[in-house]
Amino acid sequence: NRSILLVSRPKGMPIQDNFKLIEEPLPSIRDGEVLVETIYLSVDPYMRGRMRGIKTYTSPYNLNEVLTGGVVGRIVESKNKRFEIGDIIEGRLGWSDYSVSNGRNIRKVNPNLAPITTALGVVGMPGLTAYFGLLDIGKPKSGETVVVSGAAGAVGTVVGQIAKNKGCRVIGIAGSEEKNEYLEKELGFDATINYKEENLREALKDKCPDGVDIYFDNVGGVVTDHVMYRLNFQARIIVCGQISEYNSEEQAVGPRVQRFLLNCSALMKAFIVSDYSERFSEGYQYLGDWVQQGKLKYRENIIEGLENAPNAFIGLFKGENIGKQLVRVKAE
Ligand code: NDP
Repeated sequence: NRSILLVSRPKGMPIQDNFKLIEEPLPSIRDGEVLVETIYLSVDPYMRGRMRGIKTYTSPYNLNEVLTGGVVGRIVESKNKRFEIGDIIEGRLGWSDYSVSNGRNIRKVNPNLAPITTALGVVGMPGLTAYFGLLDIGKPKSGETVVVSGAAGAVGTVVGQIAKNKGCRVIGIAGSEEKNEYLEKELGFDATINYKEENLREALKDKCPDGVDIYFDNVGGVVTDHVMYRLNFQARIIVCGQISEYNSEEQAVGPRVQRFLLNCSALMKAFIVSDYSERFSEGYQYLGDWVQQGKLKYRENIIEGLENAPNAFIGLFKGENIGKQLVRVKAE
């Protein structure tokens, strides 16, 4: 059974040497447990925070232990009445070929409703993040202008499409022409900004002539500084992620955003998707129905092989993915 360990804490951008592939005998299961064969692994930006070794809302990864994250897998042995051999499940498990679960950290996925990969993306944690963050905190109204940063990623693509469906004008900020073309031509975003190429101040003025009513922030940093200048009266700022800061070793000092918030009587609220855990079934239902009806489009970037999971993870910080980044460990 191959697994990937975290062997040193990244300083700045994570590197290959922070990770190590090991091989161990296949684990055995006890009463109440199941053995899961990993089919897909999810790599997610929040994992960078857990690599720091500081307690936040989740516990840090320990050094020399198997990394854990989102997994879609198949039950290959079961001593738990709730799961049968062949069931497809999603849950937080190890970066391994096989993992043991007591059944509490996994949920069954119906492979007939949507491709099983979607349980880690559009109908999984990132989709729920977009759904609850935008609708519960943003409360979009028809005709409003919504700006989303990290727009071409797993969360951003869902935010933009839900906002479009609510009748909003949607502007996506992402890091390449290819991404922006996808957002406009395939997902129906009204306009996009390439934050690596364009003058953000001018581009925001140009593309948001009526100001910004909702800002869904996935990246923080300079991109966010500029959006603050364009806020409308009673704007809502949803602080979902700050990926531009995740590899930073310094304590950031930002602009005095409170002044902008005060000027326009704005609401700025951060959230963690697990705040909504009691409503997850509502979110899965909505997102699943939408995917089935073809109203919610998605893309996945799939890298082959467990051994390449660290590469896939590092790629998130280089913007290599369009849509959800996954690793295929085993053929479906
Ligand atoms: P993505 O699929 O969006 O992948 C990360 C993307 O971030 C990259 O493709 C890249 O796109 C962009 N990026 C990387 N570095 C920078 C940078 N320095 N400045 C600006 N953009 C950058 O990831 P997710 O959709 O899974 O996550 C998006 C955000 O949402 C993250 O910040 C994540 O931590 C957060 N999140 C929060 C949750 C919560 O509960 N609050 C739950 C899930 C995610 P580009 O080419 O555009 O640079």
